[in-house]
Amino acid sequence: MNYIVMDLEWNQSYNGHMGEHPRIPFEIIEIGAVKVDKNYNIIDEYSSLIKPRIYKKLHKKIKTILNYDENDLNTGRGFKEVCTEFLEWCGDDYMFCTWGPMDLTELQTNMDFYYMPKLKRPLKYLNLQQIYANTAISADSSSTVSKLEKAVADYNIPETEPFHTALNDARYTALVMKEMKPKNLKEQYSFDLYIYPKSKEEEIEAIHNNQYEYITRDFASKQAALDDKKVNNIRCYKCNKKVTKKIKWFSNSPSSYICVGKCWHHGNFCGKIKFKPLNDGRYYVVKSIKPIDKEGIEAIKQKQEDIREKRKEKRHTKSNNKNKSLYS
Ligand SMILES: [Zn+2]
Repeated sequence: MNYIVMDLEWNQSYNGHMGEHPRIPFEIIEIGAVKVDKNYNIIDEYSSLIKPRIYKKLHKKIKTILNYDENDLNTGRGFKEVCTEFLEWCGDDYMFCTWGPMDLTELQTNMDFYYMPKLKRPLKYLNLQQIYANTAISADSSSTVSKLEKAVADYNIPETEPFHTALNDARYTALVMKEMKPKNLKEQYSFDLYIYPKSKEEEIEAIHNNQYEYITRDFASKQAALDDKKVNNIRCYKCNKKVTKKIKWFSNSPSSYICVGKCWHHGNFCGKIKFKPLNDGRYYVVKSIKPIDKEGIEAIKQKQEDIREKRKEKRHTKSNNKNKSLYS
């Protein structure tokens, strides 16, 4: 299997949302990629400019970072032709690697715009930005969205070519990957969430990178998802036994719930439910269960305490305000 380290450049409406085509808010104007073997060596390269069909004028912000202009793009070929050629170049046995999750989303949005066949699912890929965030060198565990430039600088990779052409960025990303070379790289994949599971049969369950992951079909509401047994139960993924809850599910942000449980054989686990909103007010859920240490549990307890305090304060101010208005 090869890794396809891919980077895309895209353009958007010059006039903001006003001139935006709803089916393609971002139009891909360049595909760049390198093929990397299991020893992290670059064995092939792909690069092609795409002649835009929807947004022919480059957005101001995009124009300032790119190293080419509209005239260059006009020498490109249509998206469908380029993308078909690119996917053929990828071969039969490969895994996409990207800096962040956006490139795969935009690739598929553009493919859908031209009614091209969909990529095979479930689609596993390596989010190298996230993998980089877990390394010691990133030195900023609070941020999972470091720029590629930072990673390149952190590893002292010589900056011989400008950033923000797709092929150069793909090359740099591959070099960062080579520097990181985590032992269990293949285990660190993510599931692409461009298409969520449409039925129970399509739901995804996987154990990888020392955690359990469950991606559900859609539910009518957050509550409906929470009421689902398979969503709210937490089991030890190592022995499949039910764990004893230490901290019950609580909402730690508007879009997520967490809990902590203990398996008597395998230690403490943290469960997390993330709600993913869909356009029609429905939700699907990404649930994970992973080991957690004592400090982690203390941090969650503290968070729960903070949230309780804030709620109390809110109620207090509200009732105070009520009283004030009664007497004024
Ligand atoms: Zn267990």
